[in-house]
Amino acid sequence: MNKETILVVEDEPDIAEIIEYNLAREGYRVRVIDDGETALDRILRDSPDLVLLDLMLPGLDGLELCRRLKEDPVTRPIPVIMVTAKGEESDVVLGLGMGADDYVAKPFSPRELTARVRAVLRRGRVKSAGDPRERVILGDVVVDAGRHEVLAGGEPVRLTATEFRLLHVLAGHPGRTFTRDQLLSRVIGESVAVTDRNIDVHVRMIRKKLGPRRELIETVRGVGYRCRDDL
Ligand code: CA
Repeated sequence: MNKETILVVEDEPDIAEIIEYNLAREGYRVRVIDDGETALDRILRDSPDLVLLDLMLPGLDGLELCRRLKEDPVTRPIPVIMVTAKGEESDVVLGLGMGADDYVAKPFSPRELTARVRAVLRRGRVKSAGDPRERVILGDVVVDAGRHEVLAGGEPVRLTATEFRLLHVLAGHPGRTFTRDQLLSRVIGESVAVTDRNIDVHVRMIRKKLGPRRELIETVRGVGYRCRDDL
């Protein structure tokens, strides 16, 4: 039994109960708080292993709570999964930009929820917040930053320098969704004047070059891109 503590911030009792039931069944210790102010106090006091954060809260809303958690060096390492309503993609983009680790959109299945929680906790354990590992292996795709080489099924894939950096960032954090802004600043740098459409162009080129492994990079509609974590 893992006994990691998850703090659930959710003001709708029915949803909170479903979340609590399913996470407790997976062996997690679960605490439910129904408002943002109290949640902030509890997080500072108890430092849970993960925060599951509803964005629509009375008083201090989820995005503001997320911003405060990610601004404070003490609480920054605590992973945050946002729980969003359908059609809140702009909030998702904002939240990921603030440093939230992932999100699930309502209505979600218990399986989807527990899979996300497990994946984010696992990523936290391998400490993927910084630079991706030098050599990343996903299925039969190898991204090797040391040798500046990508192999797909043993065959070299010829990428431009920008395409390589982009694939390395995505593949180095499987399952993590990046917004176009985040990819831009990590891959191209802040100084170059480009629009976020360029990221789409680079992704398209990488997919084309990956051929049958093109599905490695998933489009997250209205948000950005992520690399699959089930390979
Ligand atoms: Ca709510």
